[in-house]
Amino acid sequence: MASDENAAEPRETLLEIRNLKTHFALDEGTVRAVDGVDLEIGRGQVVGVVGESGCGKSMTAMSVMRLIPPPGRIVEGAIRFHRQFNGRAGAADIIDLAQFEPNSRPVRDIRGNQISMVFQEPMTALSPVRTVGKQITEAIRLHQNVSKAEARDIAIETLARVKMPNPAQRIDDYPFQLSGGMRQRAVIAMALACRPQLLIADEPTTALDVTTEAQILDLLRALQAESGMAILYITHNLGVVAEMAEEVVVMYLGKVVERSDVDSIFYDPKHPYTRGLLNSIPRLETVVQDKKEKLNAIEGMVPGPYQRLRGCAFHPRCPDFMPGICDQTEPELIQLEPGHSVRCHLFNGSD
Ligand code: SF4
Repeated sequence: MASDENAAEPRETLLEIRNLKTHFALDEGTVRAVDGVDLEIGRGQVVGVVGESGCGKSMTAMSVMRLIPPPGRIVEGAIRFHRQFNGRAGAADIIDLAQFEPNSRPVRDIRGNQISMVFQEPMTALSPVRTVGKQITEAIRLHQNVSKAEARDIAIETLARVKMPNPAQRIDDYPFQLSGGMRQRAVIAMALACRPQLLIADEPTTALDVTTEAQILDLLRALQAESGMAILYITHNLGVVAEMAEEVVVMYLGKVVERSDVDSIFYDPKHPYTRGLLNSIPRLETVVQDKKEKLNAIEGMVPGPYQRLRGCAFHPRCPDFMPGICDQTEPELIQLEPGHSVRCHLFNGSD
């Protein structure tokens, strides 16, 4: 698991998301993709966000980047980014990204510069008809006042940082000339070229084979340690979270249902949904002893996007469902102990 030597030291805040709601008003109804999310990331911290597909993880990330596809929009909440100038952060440097238009100057100044994103599929981030070098140098020149030659030098240096083989030659390759792993390295280089304070990685290894996935995870860990940037790591894979993150946020249907340090999530999970996710991880001894043993997948499916459930959104799938409570009242996110919060009536002393 990720080392947490500095866990006791309070961290300077880098990003605070407060009561964020991102909704899609469609003819069929309103999709509440993000429905009141609270989340903080400290400077240099790695936070994993986990949940099944459709739980709002990616849309939370897209909201921070202000890249929500239409007709989605932020209807409520704040995304406060604590900008750092000349190596120092101060109260005057907090900007609420939710208050600006997606293509406004303040958002464009931060997006791809102080906050960067790596997507699941490298080809969504790369143009197939331009060399990777051209794409990386353009990203650099958008935010830095450097010449084309200087931007090319920075691009080669960044490709070397992400361990691209022969970076001075590969810079002139088109994406189709690169392997899947090399393409993802090029995308990471593009995201890192401006030395962001926060990297959002949305399932960056899902499209890769297991060996390449391990190499990219090693690379992200090394880059994080070297640069001290924070990472918001989005994945459905709790095994990856165990390797990458210090803090874990579990999301279900647009809400945070549990948040804790990584050890508590794995060794003392509280929310029935978190326990279900953990039970669905294949364990080595299970695989070795009985290849036919079925994994304990969570019963049922994530409800349809237009469905609004009364009470706890997880109640139709929950093994601990309490009739008359869970299907009537929505639980609040409550703090069990410093650093560990859960949204479930089982832990609400008043119930
Ligand atoms: Fe299960 Fe009730 Fe807790 Fe929801 S509130 S997770 S239904 S026990």
